[in-house]
Amino acid sequence: MKVREKIALITGINGQDGSYLAEHLVSLGYQVHGTMRLSSMHNADKMVNLKNVSGKIKIHPCGLTDHLSVYKLISKIKPDECYHLAAASFVSYDFNDELSIISTNFNPTHYLLSAIKELVPSCKFYFSGSSEMFGNTDASPQNEETKFNPRSIYGIAKTSGFYVVRNYREHHGIYACTGITYNHESSRRDFSFVTRKISTGVAKIYLGSADHIELGNIDAVRDWGYAPEYVVAMQKMLNNPKGPTDYVISTGKTNSVKHFLDLAFSTVNLDYKKYLKTNDFFFRPSEKVILRGDSQKIGDDLGWKSEKKIEEIVEEMVFNDIALLKDREKR
Ligand code: GDP
Repeated sequence: MKVREKIALITGINGQDGSYLAEHLVSLGYQVHGTMRLSSMHNADKMVNLKNVSGKIKIHPCGLTDHLSVYKLISKIKPDECYHLAAASFVSYDFNDELSIISTNFNPTHYLLSAIKELVPSCKFYFSGSSEMFGNTDASPQNEETKFNPRSIYGIAKTSGFYVVRNYREHHGIYACTGITYNHESSRRDFSFVTRKISTGVAKIYLGSADHIELGNIDAVRDWGYAPEYVVAMQKMLNNPKGPTDYVISTGKTNSVKHFLDLAFSTVNLDYKKYLKTNDFFFRPSEKVILRGDSQKIGDDLGWKSEKKIEEIVEEMVFNDIALLKDREKR
């Protein structure tokens, strides 16, 4: 007898993580559905991440901040696994943005879980958490036992989501868990993040269409991993022989923005010092505690480990941006 293929729903399927996860799940034989904003479906730039899976997935336009739309979506798809990745992912420290950040990053998590509980309680649920939940913690590295102390409204919204997920697991019996992911990069990273800003900046300088790059604090450090590896951890978490639990997903290593910059310019044999301009606009409020994740638990339980070296990530991002710009010039 043929085993029925698993049905997965990915919110934010056209983003960096959503698109890599879609590719991974399709390769594992899942039937993959995804949500994105209706406006994005008519914007070629927003669809580009999905080119490897076009025709192999089903996309549903859905505004996740509308409870009824979420309810109808779950009722129609009845997924076996739901990966909730959609979020306004740029970490704003501007508390003027707080109402919109809270509503886009918190309410959909709750709407999805409540619809799953009513309509398809066997559906497993993954929530994309963030190292920003630890914020100004006094512990380093951070693991699943570390107390949360978010410093941004984004971190507060993610921490609230974490507790709703745990509540649905512990009080409603839903297989629901949070992956507390640290920064993860790739050639699909959004341009607002410093890594992509650097890789595209280097590509422009290399091709002669820019003569400098403006950054904020280059002594800042991050635990930077490789996005395609992080989506593998997500799928493993929903297929965990130990049942649902939360994990820190990180490399355990930190690098400075300066090191990333140096590697990126070195890829094309240039010296970053000749091209860097510092701009106060890009400085953040003090980031005194280093966010570095301890992923021992997911290593022990699920055998997951980050493998890709920072040098390889940087090289891939710079070469990709050079190719993209050359391609654009041709058109
Ligand atoms: P996130 O803040 O961890 O979500 O990731 P970002 O990529 O936005 O920022 C990573 C680090 O780079 C932070 O510590 C920033 O302070 C630092 N940084 C330095 N210059 C820049 C810049 O021009 N843009 C951004 N986004 N970050 C910068």
